[in-house]
Amino acid sequence: MTDSKTSAASAGRRRTLRVGPAGERALRHGSPWLYDTWIEEEEPGAAGDLAVAFDRKRRFLAIGLYDPTSPIRLRVLSHTPARIDAAWFQERLAAAVALRAPLSEAAAQTDGFRMVNGENDGLPGLIADRFADTCVLKLYSPAWIPHLTEIQTGLAALGNWQRVVLRLNRSMQTAPELLARHTDGEILSGAPLDGPVLFRENGIVFEAEPVIGQKTGFFLDQRDNRARVEALSAGREVLNVFSYTGGFSVYAARGGASSVTSVDLSVPATKAACRNFSHNKNDPRIAACRHEPVAQDAFVALEDMHRRGQRFGLVILDPPMFAQSRAQVENALTAYARLTRLGLSVLEPGGILVQASCSNCVPAEDFFACVHQAASEAGRPLREIERTGHAIDHPVAFPQGAYLKCLFARG
Ligand code: SAH
Repeated sequence: MTDSKTSAASAGRRRTLRVGPAGERALRHGSPWLYDTWIEEEEPGAAGDLAVAFDRKRRFLAIGLYDPTSPIRLRVLSHTPARIDAAWFQERLAAAVALRAPLSEAAAQTDGFRMVNGENDGLPGLIADRFADTCVLKLYSPAWIPHLTEIQTGLAALGNWQRVVLRLNRSMQTAPELLARHTDGEILSGAPLDGPVLFRENGIVFEAEPVIGQKTGFFLDQRDNRARVEALSAGREVLNVFSYTGGFSVYAARGGASSVTSVDLSVPATKAACRNFSHNKNDPRIAACRHEPVAQDAFVALEDMHRRGQRFGLVILDPPMFAQSRAQVENALTAYARLTRLGLSVLEPGGILVQASCSNCVPAEDFFACVHQAASEAGRPLREIERTGHAIDHPVAFPQGAYLKCLFARG
């Protein structure tokens, strides 16, 4: 079931791009991205056209989706010659879903997870998250718009969706002329939605806000780290900073925390955190845990708590992305170090610090070294429990794909 526009997009003539030595090297090393500066000769086309990259000797390098609006001019679908059509997309999607089989098989416990992780599943710029029977598609390039029907058809074969929601990244929303009347938050198919959807993660019920929430409506990438926090929380007063909708908070409560404080700048997020506690009140440990939401800037809140002499047995610091580009890495590391100092200033001696970074530009080694150094300089050298990365539904297939790192340590 493909519409005429989609068929034309996939079956039309391929654009050609002649690539210089830097691009050739990158593509031969499996890069999913071809930057505009690596291209020597470019046949102009529209966003979503299929384009083939050749080297200077006219040897095939890659085929992918062309995007004249982005410095990432080509998002690579295949590094070997391939016929890209509806069947090809369907196969890619099915392969991605098959990787998550251990999660799908335990759907009674966990029915919210990432089904398609963009570049890392061979579909650059395309994310698909599942929240129970709701599928959320998030696009990072207008090049996907002409292929939406093929993607929807592929997804329909992989689940019995109550609805499919479309989310568009910020830069796409500023270029409506490329969106073929699609909008951010649109219900692409199925039942309308005027509020959150409920799903389960390791048996805990959470709300996701697919239409208006951050990213796709919930941060699924922290599932395994949340379970680790649960295992470390018994009897502790827990502080969850940058809590969003309280993912770590509810796990800490189920793990036997005596209290949990959730700090986030966003009032709707802290309200959702409270509702997430309510959704699980049939669990006696969650019902027994005192939950305090604090809608405030994290840095200010931590300083206030320190001044008031408030101390916690476990502190979680999971800030938003601090570095969007290499140029911002130094500032990001400074901010991580400041957070480490602030976190330790409210951590009981011997308490547990959990600090995460989701900035893909910040290398893991630099992040861990920065946290350790800040702690040592504060006179609280850390004893590591564990360094963690990505869960199975967030596979990593290229260096920039490894964005998540998290340190568990005693301070
Ligand atoms: N830990 C969360 C995800 C955090 S995402 C989870 O497990 O779901 C980052 C969060 O930081 C967002 O909810 C955002 O609202 C919040 N945030 C951004 N800047 C902030 C600031 N200066 N102070 C407090 N919260 C902030």
